[in-house]
Amino acid sequence: MAFEDTLRYLSHATSIMGVSSRIEQLLMTPTRQLKVEVAIEMDNGSVGVFEGFRIQHNNARGPCKGGLRFHHEVDGDEVNALASLMTWKTAVVGIPYGGAKGGVQVDPRKLSVRELERLTRKFTDQIHFFIGPDVDIPAPDVNTDGQTMAWIMDQYSKYHGHSPAVVTGKPIELAGSHGRVAATGRGVALCAMWALRDLGIDVEGARFAVQGFGNVGSWAARLLAEHGALLVAVGDHGGYLENPEGFDVEALVRHVDASPSRSVVGFPGSDTSSLEAFLASDVDCLIPAALGGVIDNAAAETIRAKLIVEGANGPTKPDAHERLIARDVMIIPDILANAGGVTCSYFEWVQNNQRFYWTEEEVNGRLEPIMRRAYDSTAALARSKHFDHRTAAFVIAIREVGKATALRGV
Ligand code: NAD
Repeated sequence: MAFEDTLRYLSHATSIMGVSSRIEQLLMTPTRQLKVEVAIEMDNGSVGVFEGFRIQHNNARGPCKGGLRFHHEVDGDEVNALASLMTWKTAVVGIPYGGAKGGVQVDPRKLSVRELERLTRKFTDQIHFFIGPDVDIPAPDVNTDGQTMAWIMDQYSKYHGHSPAVVTGKPIELAGSHGRVAATGRGVALCAMWALRDLGIDVEGARFAVQGFGNVGSWAARLLAEHGALLVAVGDHGGYLENPEGFDVEALVRHVDASPSRSVVGFPGSDTSSLEAFLASDVDCLIPAALGGVIDNAAAETIRAKLIVEGANGPTKPDAHERLIARDVMIIPDILANAGGVTCSYFEWVQNNQRFYWTEEEVNGRLEPIMRRAYDSTAALARSKHFDHRTAAFVIAIREVGKATALRGV
């Protein structure tokens, strides 16, 4: 996703709020941008040199928080945009963090596990003075996982003493939190159900489509299906499928788990489709949960859903957003809809700091009220001021970050 897209959404909200250009400049500019060299010895004895980034966008409301991705297309612009989104996301759900993001420009499929470990430890060596439980707390993102976080925690702890709270998304055996895996999808499903009800559509029998059947998409689909909604179109990197009768979501999850390519493709009893047909599916709710920028102007013209719930970060381009809003499509924005993950990361950090651990029921029981409060305040502002939900969420987030900044002093 491009930094300009986030800036456009932000600028729209600040202009409505009458924020001065100096304050707007302050909100747009990252606090700290690190670009580091990550040089490691490869298994064949050669030297691999990679570029790493950690961008801390804002820390007015608390330590910076955000994922770390390993991808060959990582660049400063994208990391910047994602760091900024984290500032607004943590503010919308009211958890005491700022925003950050990191990445290493590498194709992790080309590295052995040992090389990945060396890469992660070297990156940690390069940034350890700039992260920490009270400074900046990384988490898994694209192509990083609990093992990556375990290596970071271990490497960081060599410098600073035992520090489980320096990263979240850790394995349960290493001070991770129950409920984290499903948390983002759970938040997406909750937002979808609340928004469907606001639109006067029964969740039971509502038809929905999900792009991306990985962590976020599959958990959102499972929870919606549990409440009687019908998944009728689904797609991922392998292709697209449709089933007007509704997929057996649990069987689809088992199919993906068993598939060597981890794709929905080949699931028995479904018809194959295309991205274009998928986007134009006759559904009540469309959940993009894979890529940024997938909903462009062309898609905005063909989408028939009355509701879009953004599981992915930045799936809707700003022009497409405007077209969809003009067509009365409700969009629950990423900074609200997929905030369940960072909220659960916050729970993990709280548990690490307290050295006291919660059950999965306790975690889920605490997640829903936080998501509910954030959804309700966004929906109430959208209703009272005739804003779309994205603008309302940005207005709330900017207000919170602005208040904290003013109280602390520039
Ligand atoms: P994942 O790797 O578990 O799943 C990604 C899914 O996207 C897979 O099903 C994959 O097949 C699909 N995909 C990849 N390339 C595709 C393509 N070209 N076309 C269609 N589908 C494609 O990732 P995830 O954790 O589920 O994350 C999905 C999105 O949600 C990302 O945008 C991520 O930034 C965002 N997100 C994730 C979390 C989290 O907690 N996991 C939190 C907030 C936001």
